[in-house]
Amino acid sequence: MKTIRDASLMQQDAEAARLRGSRLALVPTMGALHDGHVALLRAARERADLVILSVFVNPTQFGKGEDYERYPRDIDRDSAIARDAGADVLFVPSNEQMYEKGFQSFVTVEKLSAPFEGESRPGHFRGVATVVAKLLNITKPHLAVFGQKDAQQAVVVRRMIRDLNFDVELLIVPTVREADGLAMSSRNAYLSPRERGEAAVLSASLRKAEELIRSGERRVDAVVGAMRGMISLSSSGAIDYIAIADADSLARLEHLQTGQDILVALAVRFGKTRLIDNIQITT
Ligand code: AMP
Repeated sequence: MKTIRDASLMQQDAEAARLRGSRLALVPTMGALHDGHVALLRAARERADLVILSVFVNPTQFGKGEDYERYPRDIDRDSAIARDAGADVLFVPSNEQMYEKGFQSFVTVEKLSAPFEGESRPGHFRGVATVVAKLLNITKPHLAVFGQKDAQQAVVVRRMIRDLNFDVELLIVPTVREADGLAMSSRNAYLSPRERGEAAVLSASLRKAEELIRSGERRVDAVVGAMRGMISLSSSGAIDYIAIADADSLARLEHLQTGQDILVALAVRFGKTRLIDNIQITT
């Protein structure tokens, strides 16, 4: 595995690989790699000749007072995990490489960025869309691999790829979970042992929602109410939102119909740690 820190070098290497006829895949991450990231790398490995893992804690997607400074960083550990998972190139640009002096061009995916995460984290998806656009231009992949864990991010990126004619295929990999159901996340490391125990209720509430919907519940209020009840009964978590939306348009739903692709998504704070999770269901 080769480590590249320079964006122009990365671009040259990617272009050379394309000219040789290789199929390139990009797995963009912020590092602090866990088995969720490894699943993305494996999916990329199965589908491409050259797997590029980017590790960049992107400052423009963090709001004021968020965890940009304390976000876990350990490039030596990430590098070992990436190598074991079969990455060919580790792209680790600096802030200066990604946002040179005078930088002022941003990508905004307007409506899809507004609800849910966008409401709680203004500007977040502007940062995400911008950095993903840059990473696609730098690494020139045929395939870009993202996780279902960040469901709204996947929807926003899919729209940007279509709207701006990026010549790249998108693959979304299912969420990888801990044994008790908690979605793997670099932010889980912030949880105290007590919070970590309680956080299992998030995925349990999503499973409950699925069970209710599968057994015919069509009232969104009833499903969300049951989830709220479960979370507040068995944890100290403060619910930021619980939402049921159309999986493609992200339009909030009030009443479900049979045969709809829906997203049940939530964000809950445990102390300073904000966790998100979701499931996608066809009703
Ligand atoms: P992050 O490093 O948290 O920005 O995540 C990088 C990529 O990994 C994103 O596409 C995430 O959706 C994906 N990802 C993060 N956690 C998981 C997980 N538990 N399962 C699957 N994909 C994940």
